[in-house]
Amino acid sequence: MNLTREQGVLTIHGHSLLDIKEQYGTPLFVYDESLIRNQCRRFHETLQASGLTYTISYASKAFTSIQLFKLMQEEQMGLDVVSEGELYTALTAQFDPQKIHFHGNNKTDHEIEYAIEAGVEYFVIDAIDEIERINTIAKRKNSTVKAVLRVNPGVEAHTHEFIQTGQEDSKFGLSIKHGLAIKGVKHIQEASHIDFYGIHFHIGSQIFESTGTIETIQIVIHWLKENNIDIKVLNIGGGFSIKYTSEDISYPIEDGIKAITQTLIDTCNEIDYKTPEISLEPGRSIVGEAGITLYEVGTVKSIPETNKYISIDGGMSDHIRTALYDAQYELELVDREDNQTENVTVAGKLCESGDIIARNTALPVSTKRGDTLCVKSTGAYHYSMSSNYNQMLKPAVVFVSEQGVREVIKRQSLEHLIANEVQ
Ligand SMILES: *Cc1c(COP(=O)(O)O)cnc(C)c1O
Repeated sequence: MNLTREQGVLTIHGHSLLDIKEQYGTPLFVYDESLIRNQCRRFHETLQASGLTYTISYASKAFTSIQLFKLMQEEQMGLDVVSEGELYTALTAQFDPQKIHFHGNNKTDHEIEYAIEAGVEYFVIDAIDEIERINTIAKRKNSTVKAVLRVNPGVEAHTHEFIQTGQEDSKFGLSIKHGLAIKGVKHIQEASHIDFYGIHFHIGSQIFESTGTIETIQIVIHWLKENNIDIKVLNIGGGFSIKYTSEDISYPIEDGIKAITQTLIDTCNEIDYKTPEISLEPGRSIVGEAGITLYEVGTVKSIPETNKYISIDGGMSDHIRTALYDAQYELELVDREDNQTENVTVAGKLCESGDIIARNTALPVSTKRGDTLCVKSTGAYHYSMSSNYNQMLKPAVVFVSEQGVREVIKRQSLEHLIANEVQ
């Protein structure tokens, strides 16, 4: 995200983050709406230029919000959902059900029924028994669904540090090597109320280059050709990386997608296989870098010759990834520019030693109670993974663009916090 300093204070699109904090409080998620739109357009433009027929859907789990879903619809994106709740949120945003894909490794009958009733046609099937369950429900509802089968390509993420999902031993997909994938295809083709649409894979997350995806496309297309299976669509999942710190690489959308689409075209041509439509489902790369979190500094504790802890007014209830994966973040003091820095630990206020935002992170020596800290690249898997641990209230979320600042999710209220309690 493009943050600039004006009279020392960090600003976004000309709005001071201190003014935004003043109006909406902290902890607060601030998104650059223009950047989200721009990421969608980069994917569209590159895919259009490939000449392939394509669809692209946003993986809603990265950040689920009605206003974001409306924006996604405006940007011609489809939507992936994996639960009744995500689907309900999408339908409330008036998302076109025909552009919603239903995913998940354990869809309940109730969810399948709800989705079909709502007009969702596209299911990503993840297990053999799901085929019969979807078929039975579709038949009962007098409808036919399109199915894409999620396969497990058995691609180990060699030297790359992805968060793997494409290795043999995984809860996701049906293994190609063990013959489960072919069994799945046959079952779907025999099902009376399911149209076999194609194949899906998603080999991991925070992937910063395209070789794993390229290798998987080749494996899958060769496997399809050898088994005489025709598909309409190949869905290559999401997983493209973002820059959390200066050590990370933002996935090169234009070059990466060009390499991927060219591989699909070339592989199909080489073995005389009909080139399918391509589908992508990015999440993190659409919203991740577009979001930041603002916190207010509270207690500052120096342990002589040991460490300095700067505590903020949120923590693992709105920022779980450091505790969960030891994820790294960059922080900046919002209030002023000060180059005299020291390495400190920024800690949350929740009752866990692991409730840390960043270790060994450089912040101005002058950082004190009442100052504002900004944590960068928190647009994906932060709000959506937030919890009420310690009865913390879920933060508010605002979108900022050239047009101004707008609240898209209000801060949770105390009344809401106990709304389900029997008193
Ligand atoms: C999580 C997920 C995505 C999106 O992954 P990102 O890393 O956020 O791009 C796409 N497809 C599937 C099946 C997923 O599980």
